[in-house]
Amino acid sequence: MKTYGHFIHGREVPAANGETFPSYAPMTGEILGHAARGTEADVEAAVTSARKGYEHWSSLPPYDRERILLKCADHVEANYDRLLNLLIDESGSSIIKAKYEVLYTASVLRTAAGEVRRLYADTLPNEKPHRMSIVVREPVGVVLAISPFNAPLVLLAKMIVFPLGAGNAVIAKPSEETPLIAVELAKVMKEAGLPDGVFNVVTGFGAECGAPLARHPKVNGIALTGSTATGMKIGEIAIQSMKRMQLELGGKNPLLVLNDFDVNKAAEIAAVGAFTHGGQICMSSARIMVEAPNGRAFAEALAKKAASLHLGDLRDEKTAYGPLINQRAVDKVLRHVQAAKDGGAEILTGGAVHNGLVFQPTVIYNPPMSGPCWDEETFGPVAMVMEVPSFEEMIAIANESDYGLSAGVLTNDLVRGMTAARRIRCGSVHVGAHSFQSDPMAPIGGYGMSGIGRSGGKYSVEHFTELKWISLELGETPRPF
Ligand code: NAD
Repeated sequence: MKTYGHFIHGREVPAANGETFPSYAPMTGEILGHAARGTEADVEAAVTSARKGYEHWSSLPPYDRERILLKCADHVEANYDRLLNLLIDESGSSIIKAKYEVLYTASVLRTAAGEVRRLYADTLPNEKPHRMSIVVREPVGVVLAISPFNAPLVLLAKMIVFPLGAGNAVIAKPSEETPLIAVELAKVMKEAGLPDGVFNVVTGFGAECGAPLARHPKVNGIALTGSTATGMKIGEIAIQSMKRMQLELGGKNPLLVLNDFDVNKAAEIAAVGAFTHGGQICMSSARIMVEAPNGRAFAEALAKKAASLHLGDLRDEKTAYGPLINQRAVDKVLRHVQAAKDGGAEILTGGAVHNGLVFQPTVIYNPPMSGPCWDEETFGPVAMVMEVPSFEEMIAIANESDYGLSAGVLTNDLVRGMTAARRIRCGSVHVGAHSFQSDPMAPIGGYGMSGIGRSGGKYSVEHFTELKWISLELGETPRPF
């Protein structure tokens, strides 16, 4: 069995204290490999390397960065099987989701390469007639990317490629549940020609190496994709050291099914929104509001679809989703189901473990509209469905959440669809679709407790570049004394 190192300055290195921790396959419980367990000494090594990497990378002609990122995209595709298989095993992804992640990783790399050609800034009109004002955009320096377990390849890629395109060096701290795929991505990018020190990976636990990385004075920006609880901790650290930060956090995303929309088609769409990767998706359609009188008809159609989902071999193209990441995640889902039952809800299908860490697709009708099952992120294959008397009330309920990540609106009525899109307080609203959507160019992020800032395309570039005003006196300006 392989022991992986951190990836620092172009090579795998063991932890300074020699410690490791296991990475498990959630489907089988088997140990896939051991990862280096990072501490302060490893943080120091990664930052020293990243500072060197930054000096070199930021001084390259931008089109060299573009060329290298494009090569990285090609090399990700050339290493499709290597990434795909590790992703399936380490994160318990179905082959459908793992394929999407690998191909999307190549796509975000190409999008970031394109952004290199759009690092525009401004020239400004001036109060003073003889002054010329230019605004330039510069990389912030070293960016820390802290990533979650649920889409451990593509979410990490999204966090690193745009800062890289803008000339930053990046240090990644992947989830302790999925460290190996991050090291593998760094190796693939090195093989494609990414210079040493430009992308380092430190594996380990949040408190042991994530927080020390975030606090390090020579780290200039932080991107976190993770839970709101972690976001609060990182936000505090970032403010105390005045670092750029971008936080993509949790959600309890509404899907509105208006009464002009065919309930069977709505159920097919909602099933993808609620059950992809067993609901371990930040934008999962977890709170489904159905306009009267279609509530029960929709819920029964969704329950029928849910009960028909194939759960089994992750490498079988028919398999809808696999296991939850660990027993803690299963226990949380069970708690939320119990809270719904205690509140008088009807469990139309599911509600229990299928086998191992695989949870049955679960449809709950008329849950209580408060408490953990309604207010907190479940991060499991559970769709809460309720009938709501009117469009106005649907919007009001959608906006009651502290979260505001993503929403879907199923309707054929463009006016009501666009009205909902403007009035729902979420970072993205998808009309005619469920709430789990992504695009490398689109601004991804949330309102309220779902985070701060947006990632994707030019929006990530804006976060991880500094604007500098440079003025030039072209004539004599009168002096006050
Ligand atoms: P998590 O918050 O437990 O961990 C995320 C990362 O933060 C991990 O790498 C972890 O080691 C690190 N971390 C934890 N405590 C830390 C600390 N004190 N200092 C520094 N780093 C620390 O999240 P998770 O369970 O891995 O992922 C699931 C969560 O991520 C869900 O809430 C989900 O909604 C969210 N998520 C959000 C998006 C989005 O785009 N908004 C996308 C995917 C996942």
